[in-house]
Amino acid sequence: MIIKVDRDKCIGCGRCTEVCPDTFKLDETGKSTVIGANHECAMSAADQCPVEAIFVEE
Ligand code: SF4
Repeated sequence: MIIKVDRDKCIGCGRCTEVCPDTFKLDETGKSTVIGANHECAMSAADQCPVEAIFVEE
């Protein structure tokens, strides 16, 4: 399973960290970084990311 954030696209809105606090966190640069592997939740966060910066693959 792969969960990735395209940090060039991420605008740091924090949506993914609200949806999946166990899987995403905003780092010191204000962009999302992957800290866990909750696949189902990451899929939901990917759907809600306004700039489609989250990539999830089985
Ligand atoms: S939802 Fe998308 S744009 Fe917002 S912080 Fe997460 S990865 Fe970045």
